[in-house]
Amino acid sequence: MHAHHINDATQPVTFEDCIRFHGHSCPGLAYGYRAATAAMAALGVNRPEDEDLVAICETDACGVDAIQIIAGTTAGKGNLVIHDYGKNAFTFYNRKDGKAVRVTFHRNEVTDAGDFASLRALVFSGKATDVEKAQFHELKDKTTADILHAPADKLLRIEKITMEAPKKALIFTSVICECCGESVADAKTRKVDGKHVCMPCAEGTHIAKKK
Ligand SMILES: [Zn+2]
Ligand SMILES: [Zn+2]
Repeated sequence: MHAHHINDATQPVTFEDCIRFHGHSCPGLAYGYRAATAAMAALGVNRPEDEDLVAICETDACGVDAIQIIAGTTAGKGNLVIHDYGKNAFTFYNRKDGKAVRVTFHRNEVTDAGDFASLRALVFSGKATDVEKAQFHELKDKTTADILHAPADKLLRIEKITMEAPKKALIFTSVICECCGESVADAKTRKVDGKHVCMPCAEGTHIAKKK
């Protein structure tokens, strides 16, 4: 696999970095990589140190991990928004100048994903033979390489769009939930019977089951 550097010599972020973060190489990761690098070039930004760039992902799948590594738009910084519409579409907004692009893909011009989808379903069902598993991995690697190396105009559609600035991550004050006693961001509490409680207490949705 070739190293794919973005245009910033001081911070070379490669597809290999994406694989290390994501755990495996796959077509979804390659789509995310291409979307992020193309969008950043279109917006004229390098990997930002701060939160000027915001990514809005219309999927919650593999590509999102490449977006986080390449564009520096991460869940923890609050500049990664996921609307899981199940669409391979990524919008990037630059707070510095208000410019935005939405990236989608001409999928079938690069690779016929038909075999891939059916083989993948078979492998994930646990019913694939060793031969089918090997075919799947070979096709997966080929598809990933095709996506990484496809000419931009054959693979991507980059639309300049106008949009409202996404809401900024809020700075919260912590308070103590009057039900479970755990610390919780003030703005995220609910009032139940006159008490300020956390959402899991209000909704009965604690992750850990009470013993
Ligand atoms: Zn993946
Ligand atoms: Zn609570």
